[in-house]
Amino acid sequence: MHDKSVSDLQRGLRTGEFSSVELVETCLARIEALDGRLNSLITVTGERALVQARAADKRLATGDAGPLTGIPLMHKDILCTRGVRTSCGSRMLDNFIAPYDATVVERLDAAGMCMLGKTNMDEFAMGSSTESSYYGPTRNPWSLDRVPGGSSGGSAAAVAARLSPLATCTDTGGSIRQPAAMCGITGIKPTYGRVSRYGLVAFASSLDQGGVMARSAEDAAFLLAAMAGFDARDSTSIERPVEDYPAVLSDSVAGLRIGIPKEYFDQGLESGVAERVQEALAEFERLGAVITDVSLPHAPLSIPTYYVVAPAECSSNLSRYDGVRFGYRAENASDLLDMYKRSRSEGFGAEVKRRIMVGTYVLSAGYYDAYYLKAQKLRRRISEDFQKAFERVDVIMGPTTPGTAFKLGEKTDDPISMYLCDVYTTGVNLAGLPAASIPVGFTDGLPVGLHLVGNYFQEARLLNAAHQYQQASDWHLRMPRGIA
Ligand code: GLN
Repeated sequence: MHDKSVSDLQRGLRTGEFSSVELVETCLARIEALDGRLNSLITVTGERALVQARAADKRLATGDAGPLTGIPLMHKDILCTRGVRTSCGSRMLDNFIAPYDATVVERLDAAGMCMLGKTNMDEFAMGSSTESSYYGPTRNPWSLDRVPGGSSGGSAAAVAARLSPLATCTDTGGSIRQPAAMCGITGIKPTYGRVSRYGLVAFASSLDQGGVMARSAEDAAFLLAAMAGFDARDSTSIERPVEDYPAVLSDSVAGLRIGIPKEYFDQGLESGVAERVQEALAEFERLGAVITDVSLPHAPLSIPTYYVVAPAECSSNLSRYDGVRFGYRAENASDLLDMYKRSRSEGFGAEVKRRIMVGTYVLSAGYYDAYYLKAQKLRRRISEDFQKAFERVDVIMGPTTPGTAFKLGEKTDDPISMYLCDVYTTGVNLAGLPAASIPVGFTDGLPVGLHLVGNYFQEARLLNAAHQYQQASDWHLRMPRGIA
C-alpha cells in the first residue's frame, strides 16, 4: 500500500479496498520501523492522523470526499500547526506550539488529508543538507551515510522512503528542488505568491515559497492544486485563479520549446549528472520537444546575490526571537540585555548566527550601497535574463544540482562549498519563477535531478512536461534499496 500513487490511493479509498485508517496505520508502521535510521521526522502526530483518518472515512462513506480526502501527508516543520510543536529545526523554537494553522495546513486539513508528522529541516531552512537541524541530521534513504539535501531534507527522505505519499516543503534558494533531486523524487516550487506564506516561519520573505514533494508530477499536481491560491492574510499572495493541474497533465509536449542555458553546464558539474541530464533532454526530444540554446549571462552571479539578499532579510526576520515573544529564553539572566544576548546565543546554531551577522553587515549604514543595493540591482538583471530567454522558449532545463548527495559531514566545515549546491536553483527564487526537479536516473547509485524552470504561473506547463517524461520513463518509480 505504501508504494501506491495518489490516484491509486484515491481509487482504493473509494472502492473500499482499504480505509483511510488502514492507510494511515500502514504509514505509521513504516515510520516506526524505518525512521529511527532516517530521522526524517521531528514530531510524529499519529493520534491526530488517525482522528483525521476516521473523519475522512466517514466523508468517503457519505460521498462527501474530495480528491485528497483520507490521504496522508507530512508538513515541513516550518509550517505552523495549531497545538503541535513547530520547531523550524531550531532549539529556539523547540518549545513553540503555534496557536494557529498556516493557511496551507488549514486548506489541506479541510481537504480531508491526514497529517502524519512534521519533517526535519535545516535550522530556519538555512542549509543544503539538513545537517544544521537541532534534532540531528536526516539521512538519505539511498545511502544512509549521505545527506538528503536541504533544507527540506526530512520531507524528501520521507517521501523517497515511502513513509508518506506526499509532503509539504519550502524553497528560498533551492530547498525543495535540491533535496528532491538528491532523494530521487519530484518537487515543485511554485511562482512567488502562488502559495500563501501565512503561517510559514519566515526566513527571507521575498524569496520564501511553499511547495510540494511527491513521487511523481501527477501526485504533486493533486497536492499543489489543493494548497495554491489567493490568501487575504498574505499580502504577497496573488489573486489569480488556480489552474486544474491534474487536468492538464496528459497534453502532448510536441512542439514544447526547451531552452538550455550554457551557463548551467560549466565547470563544477559532475560528469555523471551531466550525462543523465543530457539523456533526459534527448528523451524530451523524442517526445517532440524542440531544444535550443539560451543564455542567462548573470546566472553565475546568483549565488553571491542570493547570499546578500537572503541573509539581509533573515537578519531582519529573526530579530523577533528575543527570548520574550517566542521560544527559548536563557535562564538566570543578570539584566535585560544579558537575557537577549544569551537567549539568541544559546537558541540559534552556528549557520543561523553566520547569516544574521552577514545580513546585519550588508544592511549597515556604511555597507548598504556596496552590498545590499548592488545585490538588488543584480537581482533585477538575473530576472531580466530569464525574461529574455522566455521570449524564445517555454521551459528552461538543466541539472538541479552540480553533484549528487554528498557524505554527512563532508561540507559542514566549508560553508562556501555548501552554498554552491544551490548554484542552479537560487536564481529562480531571485526572479520569483516556478521550477521543479524530477528524477532522471542515477550515477554511482545516487539519484540525479533535472531542473525545469517556467515563466510566471506556468506551474501547469512544468507539471505537464514532467508528467509526459514520467510516462516515458520509470525513474520516479524506483525505491531505495536497503529500505524495506
Ligand atoms: N540552501 C540555501 C540556503 O542555505 C537555500 C535554502 C532554502 O531554500 N531554504 O539558504
